Amino acid sequence: MSIITLEHVSKAYPSPGRGGDPVTAVDDVSVEIAEGTITAVIGYSGAGKSTLVRLINALEPVTSGRVVVRGQELSALPERQLRRARRDIGMIFQQFNLMESKTVFRNVEFPLRLAGIPAERRRERVRELLDFVGLADRADNHPDQLSGGQKQRVGIARALATSPSVLLADEATSALDPETTQDVLELLRRVNDELGVTMVVITHEMDVVRALADQVVVMEHGRVVEQGDVYRVLSDP
Ligand code: ADP
Ligand code: ADP
Repeated sequence: MSIITLEHVSKAYPSPGRGGDPVTAVDDVSVEIAEGTITAVIGYSGAGKSTLVRLINALEPVTSGRVVVRGQELSALPERQLRRARRDIGMIFQQFNLMESKTVFRNVEFPLRLAGIPAERRRERVRELLDFVGLADRADNHPDQLSGGQKQRVGIARALATSPSVLLADEATSALDPETTQDVLELLRRVNDELGVTMVVITHEMDVVRALADQVVVMEHGRVVEQGDVYRVLSDP
């Protein structure tokens, strides 16, 4: 069963200079992602990977085509339902994007506050999440007291707060050293295995693709030039 479907999706940005042509960041992309799988999106810088992922999250509107997540076409949803749909999609980032002035507890709690969850349930949920990512004893620390790997664990806990069925990762391990990368990959595998979360991960690291992905989507100049099983795509000459 496909949980994410992109049908002929394109995204154009206005030209950076005056009177120039618009930049087509994503060009007629059709992709299906099966529930419970991990898809790696690879390709050179500027290929359109980040834009593609922002379209899946409805952080950007499509210029044309359809993005359907769990049967709902995101661009067709009114604002209120779109906010609800976004809670079903978590996201983690290369630079973690934590609020530096807030504690770990507050960072992880934040999406629960936005979702209007009462304080008592927020506390329980944050505890559960911090246990899951192995940071139960770090609730009162600030991000600058944590290592890069710990910060990404906080990012993962925050992304999972509203129990999303999809997790998007934009170069989530690129700022980490190899050993920490392995720890974070192991955690992401648990998120997939134990929680059944479908993942789409942008990466330029082939080790990450091999360690994590079931399926690979290769992008070039905004287009998907290849997609399929990880072993088949990587062994193609
Ligand atoms: P990748 O993630 O593969 O490096 P991006 O999706 O970031 O690629 O970018 C694809 C293309 O779209 C690039 O040419 C980039 O300059 C352009 N682009 C991305 N975001 C914007 C934006 N917000 N405004 C204008 N152009 C953008
Ligand atoms: P504010 O900063 O908005 O005034 P508080 O700091 O008083 O809020 O905390 C609001 C709630 O969050 C309280 O119920 C508090 O117990 C809870 N809280 C904050 N940090 C933690 C933590 N590390 N562990 C458990 N609960 C926490």
